[in-house]
Amino acid sequence: MPLNIGRAAPPREERLKAGTAFCGTCRELRERLGRPDGGCFNAANRSFGQSFGCQFTLSLGMLNTLRDTVVIAHGPVGCGFWSTGGAGAARAMKRLRDPAQNSAVWISTNLDESDVISGGEQKLREAVLFADREWRPQAIVVASSCVPALIGDDVDTVLAGLEKDTAADLVSVNCEGFKTKIMATAYDAVYNGILKNLSKKKIERERSVVPDNPDDIMYEYRKAHTVNVFNVGSMGRQDELELERLLNALELNVNFLPCFSRPRDFRRVLDAALNVSICGTHDDYYLTHIYDEYKIPYIIGTMPIGRKGTARWLTAIAEFFHIGDKARLLIEQEDAALDEALGPYREALKGKRAYVSGGEMRIFVTAELVTDLGMEIAGLKSHHIDRFVEPVMEDLDISGETIIGIASQHPFEQANLIRRISADVILMHTGSGNITAKHGLPVLPLFNPANSYMGYSGAFEIACRLRRLISNPQFNRNMQKYRPLPYRESWYARDVRSYIKD
Ligand code: SF4
Repeated sequence: MPLNIGRAAPPREERLKAGTAFCGTCRELRERLGRPDGGCFNAANRSFGQSFGCQFTLSLGMLNTLRDTVVIAHGPVGCGFWSTGGAGAARAMKRLRDPAQNSAVWISTNLDESDVISGGEQKLREAVLFADREWRPQAIVVASSCVPALIGDDVDTVLAGLEKDTAADLVSVNCEGFKTKIMATAYDAVYNGILKNLSKKKIERERSVVPDNPDDIMYEYRKAHTVNVFNVGSMGRQDELELERLLNALELNVNFLPCFSRPRDFRRVLDAALNVSICGTHDDYYLTHIYDEYKIPYIIGTMPIGRKGTARWLTAIAEFFHIGDKARLLIEQEDAALDEALGPYREALKGKRAYVSGGEMRIFVTAELVTDLGMEIAGLKSHHIDRFVEPVMEDLDISGETIIGIASQHPFEQANLIRRISADVILMHTGSGNITAKHGLPVLPLFNPANSYMGYSGAFEIACRLRRLISNPQFNRNMQKYRPLPYRESWYARDVRSYIKD
């Protein structure tokens, strides 16, 4: 049965009523989220914005992780800038899964002024045929930027016309940047392409006509003890190994999707009893569609970060498989070992204050982790806000008066906030701290594929890295001394909410 999905995923402003403009306390945020209208976050705006993330670039970030895939950035060549920087990292991370892998293979249709008048479909046809001939990939993914959407290129029809001429599966991802202010819509756009073109080509397993065939029994047994864990592109292989270790200890098998998978792995999404997300912001579009079509249950809750977050994540999975007692025992053992290891680190970190900035789920579970280390939360900033944070916020043991900003980038607001709060360390999303890092405070990347972040081993590594950073912040002090900030002092004197129109 074909999946009932549209040509493109709707923007998250519409689908989830998500918002990107708020600054206040955690108490105020919670009160607004609890209102029957969902807090009207998506109606809030700014009268001035410095920059915000483009969903096209985040889509490329996710697509470039796919193995045996060529990505065509359909648009002006500049839209593909993300891939030039990310290709090397993608190669390193892919090789941790398969040493024979190449770096991200991407090309651009390089649309120019004359294409804006005459259309870009012919260039796209040529690019697809070239990619198929040159690399023989399992899939060719066409990511559409703003220009083809504005000039009306019909990418889906072009790809449908090329299906018989190419060996690769052809996937169209409609992720034009102008369509949304919420960068996380990129995840829905990529999943929309996967649902349209890859998951629907699932391999129906042929069953034997002989009753009680041992192969069928083995398949059903394995499936009943298997979970698909939905990873994110910014997590490292060591995080996957940590989660696999914990789930194997519960006698469960694990498949990881979607990042670093091969395109044809998506056809095997049905060979599991349960789909488990590690981040509510990432996967709900895909998992709800797979549930609607194939009735595979899913769990979207907390992230397995820190002692408490990991315990909640494991417990929810174990309860589904009716092995709650086994999970309790495992959590007790892991907790005891981690507590013993953390002793000296808690001593060193006690009372230190952290400012945490990044994706909505990551900042709250990371805040829980750092408070578990004895630290305090000086402030928070999230890229956007939607209903997925509500359960995580309820469990959070931080003061309701803690300040929180909601902004997709807009570093000028973050700079203002950093000056107002008194913090010892900043934890923030990799790649978005170039201005913040000049304020003299040490910065720990919130997730970094090269480091461990999740589960019990991740909690220990974060404690080690925090202690090292806080005990020697000289690098950022030198940055503050020698690198000027781009803002005038008059901006720091103004209310951080000056440009937010509520
Ligand atoms: S906003 Fe549009 S034009 Fe700008 S990088 Fe994103 S897709 Fe390209």
